[in-house]
Amino acid sequence: MTTSAAPPIAPFRFFGLTVTRTRRLGPSMLRITFGGPGLDGFAAGGRDQSLSLFLPHPGQPEPVVPVGEDGNWFDAWRALPEDVRAVMRSYTVRAQRTAPDGATEMDIDFALHGDGGPACRWASDASPGDRLKALGPAVEDNTAVRFRPPEDTDWVLIWADETALPAASAALEWLPAGMQARVWLEVQHTRDRQALDTAARARITWLVRDEGAPAALDAVSAAELPEGTPYVWIAGESSQVRALRRHLVRERGFDRGRVTFVGYWRRGMSEEQLREAAATTATEDE
Ligand SMILES: Cc1cc2nc3c(=O)[nH]c(=O)nc-3n(C[C@H](O)[C@H](O)[C@H](O)COP(=O)(O)OP(=O)(O)OC[C@H]3O[C@@H](n4cnc5c(N)ncnc54)[C@H](O)[C@@H]3O)c2cc1C
Repeated sequence: MTTSAAPPIAPFRFFGLTVTRTRRLGPSMLRITFGGPGLDGFAAGGRDQSLSLFLPHPGQPEPVVPVGEDGNWFDAWRALPEDVRAVMRSYTVRAQRTAPDGATEMDIDFALHGDGGPACRWASDASPGDRLKALGPAVEDNTAVRFRPPEDTDWVLIWADETALPAASAALEWLPAGMQARVWLEVQHTRDRQALDTAARARITWLVRDEGAPAALDAVSAAELPEGTPYVWIAGESSQVRALRRHLVRERGFDRGRVTFVGYWRRGMSEEQLREAAATTATEDE
């Protein structure tokens, strides 16, 4: 007797991305839309779905990521000289859709920052036809979706800076109608604010740094919060995320298991320095 089973689909695999268009959303935010046949099978889970982008160095026509037949890439990639191997950076799938011609399209919103690292520089210069690679989701239910309010959630607290604004916006779109949400979104300029789409009962406060807005911790700790069982999602600059989490858990008595917190970047550190620091801390903790 023969049996045939569908081949297993790994939750994450490499996709080829081709820039189809770019659009400025505000002084600090650039939306890049990707398409091309390399996106076939891409399956974002929405909310804060993240992926790893692999970027070329200036002068390279495309990013260098050696992928073996077994799908193993990390060791081969690490073995290449730093100025050859692709630069790896984390980003969020702001939206995925099917274009009128049936092709898959995906948007990523890049926060452009003054410290201009390789991803920020690449995005600023991107134009249609440019190619990237992404290690991204091939199934919608995957571990790179972290925004997961438990069933018994009565209300949601969100804080995001500009790097986590794409994730927070997609999470707000996903929240069920009528869910109460208290939301703080931090951006640099007045024109970085965006129109957000949500069926939730969301009270949104924009913290615009150019307008002298209070720091995240001051804004949140001064707020009167709703009654009931909360779920918290906070993401952005690491020290702000840590301070907010500490306030919510220690001073407000929130259950730490109901707080999802992710440091998206750390002031003064590139993403690889941040990864190395995290790996060292993990080793020291063992
Ligand atoms: C899960 C996850 C999802 C993310 N999603 C997004 C997203 O959708 N959009 C987005 O824009 N970013 C997102 N980020 C953050 C992004 O990966 C970092 O900002 C990254 O450091 C940018 O890479 P870079 O090459 O431009 O700068 P790097 O080379 O990593 O850093 C160079 C310098 O710039 C500083 N820097 C980095 N980011 C900023 C910033 N925003 N403002 C000021 N200084 C900065 C660093 O501290 C460093 O000093 C996400 C991060 C994670 C972990």
